Amino acid sequence: MENIKDKIEELRSLIRYHSNRYYNDDAPEIEDYEYDMLMRELKTLEEKYPEFDSPDSPTKKVGGKADNSFASVVHNVRMESLQDAFSKEELFDFERRVNEVVANPKYCVEPKIDGLSVSLEYENGVFVRGSTRGDGDVGEDVSGNLRVIHNIPLLLNKALPYIEVRGEVYMPKKSFERVVDRQLINGEKPFKNPRNAAAGSLRQKDSSVAASRGLDIFVFNVQQVEGAELHSHKESLDFLAELGFNTIPGYKLVDTIDGAVAEIDKIGESRGSLEFDIDGAVIKVDDFAMRAELGSTSKFPKWAVAFKYPPEEKQTRLIDIEIAVGRTGVLTPTAVLEPVHLAGTTVSRATLHNQDFINEKGIAIGDIVTVRKAGDIIPEVLCVNEHNSDSCYEFPKTCPSCGAPVVREQDEAAIRCINPDCPAQLLRNLIHFCSRDAMDIEGLGPAIIETFVDKGLITKTEDIYTLTFEQIEQAQLEGFKEKSINNIVNSISKSKDNDLGKLLFALGIRHIGAKAAKLLAEKFKSMQAVSTATKEQILEIDGFGDIMAESVVDFFSNPKSLELINNLESCGVNMSSNSVVIDNRFDGKTFVLTGTLERFKRSEASAIIESFGGKTSSSVSKKTDYVLAGAEAGSKLDKANALGITVISEAEFAEMIK
Ligand code: NAD
Repeated sequence: MENIKDKIEELRSLIRYHSNRYYNDDAPEIEDYEYDMLMRELKTLEEKYPEFDSPDSPTKKVGGKADNSFASVVHNVRMESLQDAFSKEELFDFERRVNEVVANPKYCVEPKIDGLSVSLEYENGVFVRGSTRGDGDVGEDVSGNLRVIHNIPLLLNKALPYIEVRGEVYMPKKSFERVVDRQLINGEKPFKNPRNAAAGSLRQKDSSVAASRGLDIFVFNVQQVEGAELHSHKESLDFLAELGFNTIPGYKLVDTIDGAVAEIDKIGESRGSLEFDIDGAVIKVDDFAMRAELGSTSKFPKWAVAFKYPPEEKQTRLIDIEIAVGRTGVLTPTAVLEPVHLAGTTVSRATLHNQDFINEKGIAIGDIVTVRKAGDIIPEVLCVNEHNSDSCYEFPKTCPSCGAPVVREQDEAAIRCINPDCPAQLLRNLIHFCSRDAMDIEGLGPAIIETFVDKGLITKTEDIYTLTFEQIEQAQLEGFKEKSINNIVNSISKSKDNDLGKLLFALGIRHIGAKAAKLLAEKFKSMQAVSTATKEQILEIDGFGDIMAESVVDFFSNPKSLELINNLESCGVNMSSNSVVIDNRFDGKTFVLTGTLERFKRSEASAIIESFGGKTSSSVSKKTDYVLAGAEAGSKLDKANALGITVISEAEFAEMIK
């Protein structure tokens, strides 16, 4: 029995962990199906051993919670979840439970959109507030981000005194591909699937980011309304459409559960061809009076059930493994498969992640493998069923794009090409070069750089500085008028005067971030001096370690780097630094001042500490680095002694700040 209790607790904490990763961090670690199976296992155990059941269990609660970075919204009408079913039998069980309470219900069947649930409120036909589901009772006010979704009407076709509707915000597959593409270009971690992308976008602080993500919405419920009387789901969907909402597509009213099951099959077959992701289909009792009789549990209404399509798996042969060089230089392997029909689409490629994944599964070309397509767009290889070889596939030792040797850094799963001249990396390097902390060329954002590269206007970094108004004009780029061309030309020209620190960062030297680049510029003052500096000289900079120093020396020992720098200099790019050396000798150090100081006022001592990058605190803790103790220091001095913290006198302090 103890074992069962432990098992239940273990499942609960595992589910809570994954629920947090999914709802609050928008970064799930497991597939939805695996999560659903954990939930299933817990539910079964709780039903079998009611003595261990608890109202706090995740099986009784709507997942998620309101993040306090947004204002809270208390939902007047609870935003419930749905009970789920994974087999036809479970749908018939649902019908049985419904029939025990009401007779001959009609059912509405609709696709279950894989997005995130929101509530939209309107007063006198005007959009006033929109919020997330949160834990069902309290959500987050994300009105600003909802306003920018073009399918959310800001004004309804009818000025009803009040209406609250519920819908699912989602990211269409096309927008998802575009967003992920952009993330890869920018070297960011891409969203795992459209659902997470939608959730992450809706919780942005800056609405222009949400606006750029191409989100959309389907509205599927009237939560509460004044000024209209509705009797059924079908009637309410028609009413919502009249008001101007984009209602749930492809819904169907049926008379029997068999009709509903047939509809579910149809929706399942259409899955691959839809422009958005669905993770199931929902059966809802249509009549509102019947719904009221059926009621709800603490988590979901008893008048609806969500059928979740199982992830489809098929076996096929792995014909080849293709290696692509990403824009960050990372080599990514893709399995080329004998095409199989899976979850409504033909699958002929699947991701293989990296060499570790290949080793773990023992994958080799010619193997028969199982591929699975779950919620994610990209199918994955689950396991090998028949091995074709004793050894598994090994990555090439040279870059397939430029032929340079590839490297695998310690503690990194990725194998990458580090040749700065590798054509596959040109785009990524250019985007970095122009970015804000680097050369800060306003107007030359990722999309425009990509267009310039596609049109052949830029073939290497230094080409940026030979771009002319006429060249850009002749390329006849869509949307490029005289003013925008002038703006770009001017900001390119302005960037030539940047301080050396920005240029050093722009060069993309590995392990050298914006701050390290600035320190290099401060110490060496000119490109000439940085490029000829020895490892030992670089190590004199506070905070620089072996890896950083070696990386700088390596970069400047590559003739290609020197050629790039020469060309930039010929174009008039500034190669020197005027920045003043900043003395950060107290960087990261915390001081506590106590007792009567004679040589300094407390405010003076604090200002000096801060000017050297340190900070002061009013209480002594383990995090304190120094206690500056004057005469008659009391309890703080005692505490410092007890914790073994360095105590300094005024004279010692004066010495430290010389
Ligand atoms: P749910 O997503 O299964 O169902 C409820 C939701 O469906 C509602 O919030 C509603 O907004 C939405 N919905 C979409 N279309 C609808 C329609 N036509 N009618 C009614 N509702 C519709 O339940 P849940 O509690 O929100 O979340 C559980 C889901 O989240 C599961 O799919 C689970 O796998 C996934 N999840 C995954 C992880 C993970 O780590 N992978 C973690 C937590 C949750």
